[in-house]
Amino acid sequence: MKRKVAALCLSSALATSLLVAQPAGAVGNGPDYNGNETIRNERLHNYEEMVQFLRETDERSEVMSLEVYGKSVKGRDLYLAKFGNNPSHPTILILTQQHGNETLTTEGALRVIKHLASQGAEVKEWLSKVNVLVAPRLNADGAEGDVNFPLDDYAAGTHTRYNANGVDLNRDHTDRSQPETKGFHENILKKYKVDYLIDLHHQGTQTTLGDSDRLVSGSILYPTNPDVSPDVVHQSKQLGAVVYHAVEKRGFGTLSKYVGGSGANIARNGLALEYKIATLLFEMRGMADHSNDSYVLGQKSNGYLIEQAVIAIESAIDSIADGSIHQTDVSVWDTLPESGSGGEE
Ligand SMILES: [Zn+2]
Repeated sequence: MKRKVAALCLSSALATSLLVAQPAGAVGNGPDYNGNETIRNERLHNYEEMVQFLRETDERSEVMSLEVYGKSVKGRDLYLAKFGNNPSHPTILILTQQHGNETLTTEGALRVIKHLASQGAEVKEWLSKVNVLVAPRLNADGAEGDVNFPLDDYAAGTHTRYNANGVDLNRDHTDRSQPETKGFHENILKKYKVDYLIDLHHQGTQTTLGDSDRLVSGSILYPTNPDVSPDVVHQSKQLGAVVYHAVEKRGFGTLSKYVGGSGANIARNGLALEYKIATLLFEMRGMADHSNDSYVLGQKSNGYLIEQAVIAIESAIDSIADGSIHQTDVSVWDTLPESGSGGEE
């Protein structure tokens, strides 16, 4: 019999769900957005559905283990799904939804969790060589729109970029002033030896530089803080090149090079600097909710964007498992067109 998540966690999750119960239909019926029927979020996992999925998948799987690594401002448990536990193997960490309105990244991560838990032949091969950690939805409160500030500025009024205290969690990786980032650093980054990280986001609509008509399906970037060691930057570029080629090969790809800042408070930079983790920012098209209406995509795009996230994550796992990442040429970064403008990251 597989050991389950401690009963303490279960009771706190239940208490939390009672405390933060949403008005009926707030999520399930989709937002009322001036008759614009393309904004509907009902096919996405809300917090309780995500937790239920993680617990059920954990119970069925012999290779997965689930732990609670922290709590949100509003008391929601934050979960880490773990596959493989061999300290001599490299470890990749997948992080999603630091911004609560960037939902499809988590849907992709949940699909990867389901695949890894299935113990198919391909998965067995991966997990005999690599450890995979998945931390879905860091900003659990913003994803529920359960925050201590009004949502008036948001088109759908259902999800927020910021956590419940109005803090951007992807600018809090040096201060760690918030329980979400504190838990992430103390109970994941300082506890596990992480070699690679993919940090998944949404960027609304972006084009490539000089081409205002064609939207990219995603944008990628390695750490750009000048103090990150050249070795770590090179490994990060290899991680990016692996993901780039996998996405392009599957026909999803119009990727661009993300235009992002160099601050160490951003995960892409700070984790490379502090823990020497090779990091990749992957920003996908669209957004579940935003003040800029044009960023918000209808769910017609959900399928391929979720698939794009899965391809990105699994191509990275595959190349780390078979070691091919170490031979990956990084010259694609020299020709990858930059995005037309800088993003929020
Ligand atoms: Zn983001």
